[in-house]
Amino acid sequence: MTGVILWDFDGTLAHRPGMWGACVVEALDEHEPGHGIALDDVRPLLRDGFPWHAPNEPHPHLCDADRWWKHVGALLAHAYEGVGLTPALAAELADRARARYVDVDTWRVFEDTRPALERLRARGWHHVVLSNHVPELPALAGALGLAEYFDAVLTSAATGYEKPHPEAFAHGLRAAGAARPVWMVGDNYEADVAGAEEVGIPAVLARRADARAMRTVETLDELDAILD
Ligand SMILES: [Mg+2]
Repeated sequence: MTGVILWDFDGTLAHRPGMWGACVVEALDEHEPGHGIALDDVRPLLRDGFPWHAPNEPHPHLCDADRWWKHVGALLAHAYEGVGLTPALAAELADRARARYVDVDTWRVFEDTRPALERLRARGWHHVVLSNHVPELPALAGALGLAEYFDAVLTSAATGYEKPHPEAFAHGLRAAGAARPVWMVGDNYEADVAGAEEVGIPAVLARRADARAMRTVETLDELDAILD
């Protein structure tokens, strides 16, 4: 076997409990204890504007960490203003939220991730991360102790293309080189499974049930039976 598995990151290999909403609230907890703002107040303010909310729109103008964070930082500041903070405090908290989001201590690797990566590697599979994510994803994967498993860690913040855009998968295929077969594994039906299948890459939906998916696994332990 000389194949390559393209892996989604968030919700597939690792997760940040509470995601962006929790991150925004954590920065508030740190800076403004007793603020009285709940996760449910913040979440609706974060449902639009992130690059992955518009996968049809490539964003090569954001392929630089500072430009990317300027764009996303403005969204975070807008959310803080939406719950009543002043623009100055909102901007400061957006910076703090950025630092918290990429803090390795706020991330958790799923228990079955390393065993699955090791088992599949022992069977000859190579691994590539293909994620809609922040610019710092390669460093984050390294800090989580996962870098050794991956031939490449591709983040949309650096490529300018969000899954399910076909060009996002083209980046994955280029990273795979001549190796075949190539599979995609991820937890989002539209972005990971439908997007991959649209360009001819077979895909497995992980950790979720969805009647539209041809192949699903509850845990990564079940992948071996599919990827043979
Ligand atoms: Mg995901």
